[in-house]
Amino acid sequence: MNNGGTDRYQRLEKLGEGTYATVFKGKSRLGGEIVALKEIHLDAEEGAPSTAIREISLMKELKHPNILRLMDVIHTENKLILVFEYMDQDLKKLMDTNARTTHGTLEQTAIQQFMFQLLRGIAYCHENRVLHRDLKPQNLLINKLGELKLGDFGLARAFGIPVNTFSNEVVTLWYRAPDVLLGSRMYSTSIDIWSAGCIMAEMYTGRPLFPGTTNEDQLQKIFRMMGTPTDQTWPNVSQLPEYKPDQQFYPPQTIYQILPNIDPSGLDLLNRMLQYQPQMRISATEALDHPYFDSVRRMQFE
Ligand code: ADP
Ligand code: MG
Repeated sequence: MNNGGTDRYQRLEKLGEGTYATVFKGKSRLGGEIVALKEIHLDAEEGAPSTAIREISLMKELKHPNILRLMDVIHTENKLILVFEYMDQDLKKLMDTNARTTHGTLEQTAIQQFMFQLLRGIAYCHENRVLHRDLKPQNLLINKLGELKLGDFGLARAFGIPVNTFSNEVVTLWYRAPDVLLGSRMYSTSIDIWSAGCIMAEMYTGRPLFPGTTNEDQLQKIFRMMGTPTDQTWPNVSQLPEYKPDQQFYPPQTIYQILPNIDPSGLDLLNRMLQYQPQMRISATEALDHPYFDSVRRMQFE
């Protein structure tokens, strides 16, 4: 078998299915190391779009302890196989297991450490002018050492975010920023910060913060909690394409009522991430300096 390098890896069991691909465990035939083989099915006619190939080549340059390492790209006729370092599980599976086995949520220390690593990965990518665009617990990989790494970086840009996944599940909107939901096309690094805020809240409660089913329902869920934005609270929001002038008005609630076990500094950080106005959202680099991470930063130097 010689199909452009697939013979370099032995394909083992299936690890999961995502938005773009099916992921298998794999083993390098040469070095024996365990990897994750992410197989992206290509349009039979068009093959791999050259823009996608370019984006993926850029991903190979992203090297950081909190970014899933892309080791190799294998391009065959009908498949693109991305070879990543292997991780034990993802944050969604970890939270699900926790809920089932201990009926509980994650410990505050674990949440702080995961959030710190998540923001460090985001900060590195933003410094390199790469947006993630699709941050969610399934895309955060975790290993036995408690290391967290961002997967899927740049894929949204390479392929666009489809409506349905390759296995026909609906792509989740739960972590999508309100400016994106309202149809803004000027979005920036701040969209990843919104997603990080939603993930932080979910780690505390064990439940998604805004589990919307459609674009409109997603906005409703956000508005009901954070208040319906107006031109007073978010200048020019009414100019955004998807803004409905007859939108029901909800007053803002305090997010604290659904997060009784968060401490004041955590609540402050969360509030800074979940700002309506994109430019008001804290940046990843600023967030890493937040008092919420004091104990994590101290541990680094012990
Ligand atoms: P997609 O980009 O198509 O959404 P993902 O990269 O999110 O695909 O992968 C789908 C699932 O496969 C993940 O949720 C995870 O459970 C598993 N997976 C992905 N990458 C790895 C990896 N490097 N190591 C172990 N499991 C992985
Ligand atoms: Mg994914």
